[in-house]
Amino acid sequence: MEALGYDIPEPGHITRLADDLFWARFDLPFRLNHINLYMLDTDDGWVLIDCGIDNVHTKEHWDALLNGPLSQQRISQILVTHHHVDHIGYCGALCDITGAEAWTSAKEGEHAHWLYAHEPADFAALMVKTYTQYDLAPEAIEEVRHRGSRYREKCGVLPSFNLVEDGYQITTKAGVWTARIDKGHSDAHISLMDKNRNLFISIDFLLPRISPNISADIRDTDDDLLAHYFQYLTEMQALPEDMHIFPGHDWPFIKGNLRATALIEHHHMRLDQLEQAAKSAPLTVSTAMDVLFGRMFGEHELYFASGEARAHLNNLKSSGRLIKQQDDAGIDRYYPS
Ligand SMILES: [Zn+2]
Repeated sequence: MEALGYDIPEPGHITRLADDLFWARFDLPFRLNHINLYMLDTDDGWVLIDCGIDNVHTKEHWDALLNGPLSQQRISQILVTHHHVDHIGYCGALCDITGAEAWTSAKEGEHAHWLYAHEPADFAALMVKTYTQYDLAPEAIEEVRHRGSRYREKCGVLPSFNLVEDGYQITTKAGVWTARIDKGHSDAHISLMDKNRNLFISIDFLLPRISPNISADIRDTDDDLLAHYFQYLTEMQALPEDMHIFPGHDWPFIKGNLRATALIEHHHMRLDQLEQAAKSAPLTVSTAMDVLFGRMFGEHELYFASGEARAHLNNLKSSGRLIKQQDDAGIDRYYPS
């Protein structure tokens, strides 16, 4: 991985990355403290790619962009790459402000609406069930019992979505971008590539610094998302070394093929660590987290860390390296096969 030397855009400004591609960076109230949003300039108007979380800061930042660098522009389309709140949260409001329609893949749209539809009490019950299966600490379970919906906290009312399918194309003033849809970090995440110009908007599936969170889905905690992500990364190993990659976090970079190899190795190392640990004592998600991360987490991080540990256990189970059994208390335990 090697960073490309673009200036990081300040709030209210956009940085040109190619003749038709622009970049804005919005703050996030998490440890991962920002998100990259992209824009494509077409003969029809501008396509906004991702929206930011639903909060006052995002509203102010969009107001500054729409009254600043984008003030003379028609917004033709809002494309949401996946259902995570930092990408989709402000989508409904942005549709209302711009008059543009929202687009995403069928599964991401459905997943977002499914999460949003949960009343706070239902969402809390789902979290209690999940954290019980994971054998997390009683205090952590009590915390989510009273927390309500972590999704609605950061996501505004969702619009209905037009559907983006694999191979969907956006023709801009300078080229043609083709959508690909992948499963791993989320169900059916959209990224966009212009092969002719060697440009790839990878969003959250290929990041230069951090490992994209591969986290078990609370709707289907056994789904082996990591197996799908390995497939994606294997394909990415064939990327041209000089392809310019535009991620959802951090900065534009090249050598994405080497980054994909490093991520494959990273996940295999974690799988090996867990398989080894299970030989000493059966694992729960909680003890798997200790093996992988070895430290305590705040509530927000615990959600991702436990999901990540579970995703690795799911992969060890589906590849036959561990066996899962649920005990009478509803706790999942993983044994050597
Ligand atoms: Zn994401």
